[in-house]
Amino acid sequence: MGKALIIGCGGVASVAIHKCCQNSEVFEEIMIASRTKEKCDALKEKLQGTTKTKIRTAKVNADSVEELVALIRNFGPDVVLNLALPYQDLHIMDACLETKVHYVDTANYEPEDTAKFEYKWQWAYREKFKNAGICALLGSGFDPGVTGVFSAYALKHHFDTIEYIDILDCNGGDHGYPFATNFNPEINIREVSANGSYWENGHWVETKPMEIKREYDFEGVGKKDMYLLHHEEIESLALNIPGIKRIRFFMTFGQSYLTHLKCLENVGMTSIKPILFEGKEIVPLQFLKAVLPDPATLGPRTVGKTNIGCIFRGKKDGKDKNYYLYNICDHQECYKEVGSQAISYTTGVPAMIGAMLLMNGTWTKPGVYNIEEFDPDPFMEALNKWGLPWKEDFDPVLVD
Ligand code: NDP
Repeated sequence: MGKALIIGCGGVASVAIHKCCQNSEVFEEIMIASRTKEKCDALKEKLQGTTKTKIRTAKVNADSVEELVALIRNFGPDVVLNLALPYQDLHIMDACLETKVHYVDTANYEPEDTAKFEYKWQWAYREKFKNAGICALLGSGFDPGVTGVFSAYALKHHFDTIEYIDILDCNGGDHGYPFATNFNPEINIREVSANGSYWENGHWVETKPMEIKREYDFEGVGKKDMYLLHHEEIESLALNIPGIKRIRFFMTFGQSYLTHLKCLENVGMTSIKPILFEGKEIVPLQFLKAVLPDPATLGPRTVGKTNIGCIFRGKKDGKDKNYYLYNICDHQECYKEVGSQAISYTTGVPAMIGAMLLMNGTWTKPGVYNIEEFDPDPFMEALNKWGLPWKEDFDPVLVD
């Protein structure tokens, strides 16, 4: 069918690349391009011989539009799958515009020096992408990603109006370290140490970090404490789900994680303000990232399951209705299949699916779109086929 250029070769990219190689009818050829070419070459070495997908590798600095454009022109992909960091989003979108190639990512743009993530920078590209006749699919991971697809599916098949959405992200996995993050530590810590917020009656309600706590009994995991966080899909769902009254996002954290995080915050290690150290400027959070375990190495030691999904409340045929859509994923099964833990797996699989649906023309419409703006059915079908089967509950326990 075609060619995909995958940028980045970390935890999430590794899973997406494994999945592209399982799906070689669509992904006939891929190029893995990242800052550290050795990682791309090692993955190519591991996978070639197990797949019909032809794999090429390259070194690229994704902060340089010029380098990206040259790489895209040289390889000629049908789609660029951005699995580097949120800081690179706009540069990669610029390169896609210049070369007229579709774009997919899993996290919205964040300026490196402000720790504020919003869609406004990427939404500003809508007209340009439309005029160029190419599509940018934003947020094709799990959350954002599958949570948006779940919302579009619930609206299409189960509700006349959705009034309340609670997104519950539970990681019941244990990696045995007192403190480690399951995806890029810098991005993860920026996200969880920020103020929380939720959408209610047309505006944002801001909370202190970890101020709102609830307990929930998750199938496959058990009872866990979860905390309200700001999360990027709230912003797009608030616009794309008509009549919505409230959207909240909760993530589970263990006590050890929170105690360590508080201590690191108290001593200044999570700061993104550069400091002078032995005559050199360093960012404390980037230094912390360098001493923490690399999330890509957590796979063999992580046991347990994730359970991520959305509880919807709304109206169908004039009556109140509740509906819960979720996926349960087992860390060790992911490791056996692709050598990664479930957080990378639950993000890498939807990234491959998003790229596939653009490549095979199922979802192509010119412009910049969030995932819930497309027909959810082909994506839901693909989730079942490619390793993230979903479950439904028509009488879920609600979060107060
Ligand atoms: P990693 O840190 O493991 O991987 C990032 C990769 O990008 C690395 O290979 C890194 O290179 C490469 N990279 C970084 N900067 C550049 C650059 N300037 N040029 C070229 N390559 C670069 O991160 P993850 O795999 O954990 O996360 C990837 C993305 O997925 C992030 O944006 C994250 O926010 C997102 N994510 C989304 C989720 C969702 O559900 N939607 C969930 C989890 C993550 P090097 O190897 O040299 O460091």
